[in-house]
Amino acid sequence: MIENWYVPEDAQNWRRDAGADPADQELGERVYTSRLIGQNPDLLMHGGGNTSVKLERPDLFGQMQRVLHVKGSGWDLDTIQAPGLPGVWLDPLMKLRTLERLSNFDMVNIQRANLLDSGSPNPSVETLLHAFLPHKYVDHTHATPFLVLANLPNAAEVCREIFGDRLGIVPYIMPGFGLAKKAAEVFDENPEVEGLLLLQHGHFTFGATAQESYDKIVAHTNEVAAYFGMQDLTPLGLREPAKGLDVLPTLRGVIAEIAADRDDPMPVFDLRNGPQVLEFFNRPDVEALAARGMASPDHVLRTKGCPLVLRAEDLSGGRARIKEKVEDFAKTYRAYFDRQAVQADEPKKILSVDPKHAWIEGVGVVGMGPNAKAASIAADLAEQNLRVRAVGEDAGGYYPLEEKDRFDCEYWSLEQAKLGKSTPPAFQGRVVMITGGAGAIGLATAKAFASKGANILLVDRDAVALEQAVKALGPWHASFACDITEKGAAEAAMQAAVHRFGGLDILVSNAGTATGGAMLDLSDDDFRAAFELNFFAHKSFALEAARVMQAQGRGGQVLFNISKQAVNPGRNMGAYGTPKAATAFLLRQLTLELAEMGIRVNGVNADRIRSGLLTDDFIAKRSKARGVSEEVYMAGNLLGREVEATHVADAFVALAQMERTTGHIMTVDGGNTEAELR
Ligand code: ZN
Repeated sequence: MIENWYVPEDAQNWRRDAGADPADQELGERVYTSRLIGQNPDLLMHGGGNTSVKLERPDLFGQMQRVLHVKGSGWDLDTIQAPGLPGVWLDPLMKLRTLERLSNFDMVNIQRANLLDSGSPNPSVETLLHAFLPHKYVDHTHATPFLVLANLPNAAEVCREIFGDRLGIVPYIMPGFGLAKKAAEVFDENPEVEGLLLLQHGHFTFGATAQESYDKIVAHTNEVAAYFGMQDLTPLGLREPAKGLDVLPTLRGVIAEIAADRDDPMPVFDLRNGPQVLEFFNRPDVEALAARGMASPDHVLRTKGCPLVLRAEDLSGGRARIKEKVEDFAKTYRAYFDRQAVQADEPKKILSVDPKHAWIEGVGVVGMGPNAKAASIAADLAEQNLRVRAVGEDAGGYYPLEEKDRFDCEYWSLEQAKLGKSTPPAFQGRVVMITGGAGAIGLATAKAFASKGANILLVDRDAVALEQAVKALGPWHASFACDITEKGAAEAAMQAAVHRFGGLDILVSNAGTATGGAMLDLSDDDFRAAFELNFFAHKSFALEAARVMQAQGRGGQVLFNISKQAVNPGRNMGAYGTPKAATAFLLRQLTLELAEMGIRVNGVNADRIRSGLLTDDFIAKRSKARGVSEEVYMAGNLLGREVEATHVADAFVALAQMERTTGHIMTVDGGNTEAELR
């Protein structure tokens, strides 16, 4: 059962917080119920669904005019705010209904030209449908039970069985002007209807108040769910602990290999392997269902029409067999494009031919995308589609869009126009692991990579600090808490990267700490412990990372945090400098041995950075001992400027971008003749 989350006091608060203007207050309540819909995955999935409200606002001449506020592109309903529902003058849109035809370009142009604020995002492609319905509030979703209903071969009949005349039934037409006109005609035939079923697409409701429309969305969806025995909600986003995920880095590498001519060759993965997903693979009709296509037109762009299917026997066939399957997928996709493109009324550019989601027997479903967010959206839709297909097929049949309709959505002219217009960020599709990720240098480095599109896995011993660090980094990054000196820690961290993102591209082996003391005074145990952290952990993480990169077969990078101590010994710093010197040599050894796999190995030699290693307390003591101020002490280098964690981070990023550099140690110390590498 989907719960109705409407709380009158909350609605009042949203109205009150929207200001004194009654129109703004209504928009405030519109934002509130839009969020209620967006925050319930059983009602709404990403990339689909939209809401609107019709208001009156004065134009520049002080005359009241009708305005439609409708969801704009780039906003998700779960987090939407008022600017995410741009206002469009309604009357010019209403006039369009008299037209016989309207091209997509003209439709989008007219919508833009009538925005109240020319800086707003594009109003939804379903704007005209919202405009042509007379009700003040209109809601549109692709709820899981409705997708089951909408894709039945006898959907209209079943719809009447459930709802009688309470829902109007709209035949499938691609979203846009044609669908808006048809939906309005269906509504006009019986203005008493409570909502619309859009065949092979989704559900519309409307009402005089936000609550009325929202109540119907929830009630209708529950009626359909009850009919199909779907009282339990679809569990989404379950990523259970799993073994045997070796297929993921291999698959990631194979896809990159096949798409090597693209700018963003490495997909990021998002695995879902809850019990419902794994059970699906026991069905005898898995292959048949895979070939049928997605449950709603809005899904096609994010998931492609069909999944890559890997059965148990494919997995045992190793890389060669997986490559064959991905090549088959690409071939099938090209054939589909060739069949359909010739029938289109304008020339089409083929999209990437690799899969955007996979069904992997015994492993789960995997969403794929240029970044973790896109992969997660694809995974959510893939999970929802498994449920829709399983329930639908058992309830009479799952018959979604025909190939031609699917093509029209995937190759919609305005999406095509966007192709190749934006440059992807430098580290798009790259997974970066950073040890000591909660520390000053680790987090600064994470932020620097993340700002260029990388997906970050932070590793640190301190679980609390780690949680704060990953929060500071923003959504779509991950963390793994472990003591990196423990046996098996490196393997476990790599598994975490594979489990969360499908693989690893760059390791920043950064964690370290200084044990002070004169060589004559240091205990053997302390000295060995310093080696565990400052040498052996670097070694095991680098080697385990190299194994994942080897499985991917697409190169990779290891970056070490080397210290000034590795080059220029400091008094009482022997237990730090000696293992760091060994790590500097490890860098050279790995450079030699990993080059043939395309793995580059570089390091940063930094000095005197405020961090967990060089605390404020320590700085105060050292500067006092030298009889200088803290500022002078921290700027004690040739440039006379303090070196900060962000400068070290910039060096790691620079090395990661230097495609033909390996075996290099870059110094970041503001200039220090004694510590220069020569
Ligand atoms: Zn839709």
